Amino acid sequence: MGLKAYQRKRDFVRSPEPRGKARPRGKPQPHPKELIFVIQEHHARRVHWDFRLEAEGVLKSWAVTKEPLTAPGVHRLAIETEDHPLEYAKFHGRIPEGEYGAGTVRIWDHGTYDSHHPVEESMELGAIKVFLHGRKLKGEYVLARVAGEGARSRWVFFKSKPKPARLKIPAIASLPRKRRR
Ligand code: MN
Repeated sequence: MGLKAYQRKRDFVRSPEPRGKARPRGKPQPHPKELIFVIQEHHARRVHWDFRLEAEGVLKSWAVTKEPLTAPGVHRLAIETEDHPLEYAKFHGRIPEGEYGAGTVRIWDHGTYDSHHPVEESMELGAIKVFLHGRKLKGEYVLARVAGEGARSRWVFFKSKPKPARLKIPAIASLPRKRRR
């Protein structure tokens, strides 16, 4: 997506939000680096929680319609929104009246994340699994696309249920043999 949609919607003279610069795409990182996530509570016309994951030098973004949950099970609706610049992860403050997203933004949670697959690839497939290391959100979370494509597509966001602990069954060979009569 890049940052064009983000920059087109905003007036950076009036809004304190960062303009941001797109990073060169597809360049391998010289060193393995920690990827970040942030959730911003945004009191706009309607309150929502903007969930953002670092990928391809930008923040992939979703507007979650209710406060995210720290316990597994319950799904939250998440609407995909335009990519935001990486600098946005530190943004909090007030977007003035009349501007896009007018209202207050505060950082609700932030941290790093791990994933087995690059988020940009999982996004195309419509199923993202990330392990969040936040202050509030910790553990494995899933974003799954349920309708639409690209900006405004609808996803569900939820915490994975813990895997059932495996029963330990000792190998037959290691069981003491019964004495033959
Ligand atoms: Mn928002």
